[in-house]
Amino acid sequence: MTSQTSPNPPAGSAQASGKSGVSGVSGASGAFDPSEKPDCAASVRQQPSFLRTHTFHGLAPGPRLLILGAVHGNETCGTHGTASVLDDLDHGRLSIERGTVTLLPVTNPLAYRLKQRTGDRNLNRNMQPSAIPQDFEDRVSNVLCPLLEAHDVLLDLHSFHTGGAPFVMIGPQDNTGKLEPFSRAAPEMQLALHTGPFRIVEGWLETYARGVARRAQGAQPLTAGRSQSLVTNPNYGVGTTEYMRSRGGYGVTLECGQHADPAAVDVARYAILQTLGLLGLTSQQPDAFSAEGRQILRLVDAVDREHAGDAFTREWRSFDAVSAGDVIGTRHDGSPVAAQADGFVVFPNPRADVGSEWFYFAQRRA
Ligand SMILES: [Zn+2]
Repeated sequence: MTSQTSPNPPAGSAQASGKSGVSGVSGASGAFDPSEKPDCAASVRQQPSFLRTHTFHGLAPGPRLLILGAVHGNETCGTHGTASVLDDLDHGRLSIERGTVTLLPVTNPLAYRLKQRTGDRNLNRNMQPSAIPQDFEDRVSNVLCPLLEAHDVLLDLHSFHTGGAPFVMIGPQDNTGKLEPFSRAAPEMQLALHTGPFRIVEGWLETYARGVARRAQGAQPLTAGRSQSLVTNPNYGVGTTEYMRSRGGYGVTLECGQHADPAAVDVARYAILQTLGLLGLTSQQPDAFSAEGRQILRLVDAVDREHAGDAFTREWRSFDAVSAGDVIGTRHDGSPVAAQADGFVVFPNPRADVGSEWFYFAQRRA
């Protein structure tokens, strides 16, 4: 049974209007380009007032899976991937046999409408319910958090800014620590392996916590404003998967490819079908994958852009390898930012806001 049978994105979305290039599978405008930002006319800024989910309840018991697209508004591979699978379900080419799956093609409809990463702020940070919401993403979180809690497993579909191959992000190994206690590492790794990418990345929240601690020590020149104050909040690193784990579930973030790469939609669609098969929601056997031959990297540091004059020494792509001492960028005063060890540059963002993450540093899992 489905609450909405149409595979189309929410009415009023840029795609449904037929005017936008953001959602064209082969369009190039899914890439973030500040020059394309729409103006802030009231009609554009009028905020969406609902989330649109599509839920299928199998008639036999099974796990409850939630699939998210466009948590970041300019990352539309999940929107198109879920639309494609919905079309299969609606036309009987695929059937939910057991358990529950909920698809949410556009998780941040304001950011999606604006064709940018964020609406008022980054939805995938500081995720928690608020009694008194302060911005659009707080209002989304008040609906999204209970939705996460009502499911057991999360597949969160994203894309990235610069070029490179798809990868999948997992949480910590099983532990009883205070930051992110966890006991579902084994099924989570199985899920990560079955989504397909060669590269698996771990250590997200721990890395954030380190950055937050550094900001709290006043190492960064902070400007006023809520988005800035959030980067000193201990909950800053909590996004969809972290929230899911904090409620006893598990999940992965799949980075399907570059924003504008049409292949990212195929990666998203494949991962959805694999996950449905792995969890037994469909009768299709998933392709088998093992950890053998996969690259497992651990994020170890987040480096902030401290000044608008901070610049990379070259156009880095995620997972470009660097050796200890290699200069990754230069601060505005000319001082070098060098790799402290052999490792990899991850999520480089040459246009990062001052006071937020410029790039991450990862090393092979020990
Ligand atoms: Zn994203």
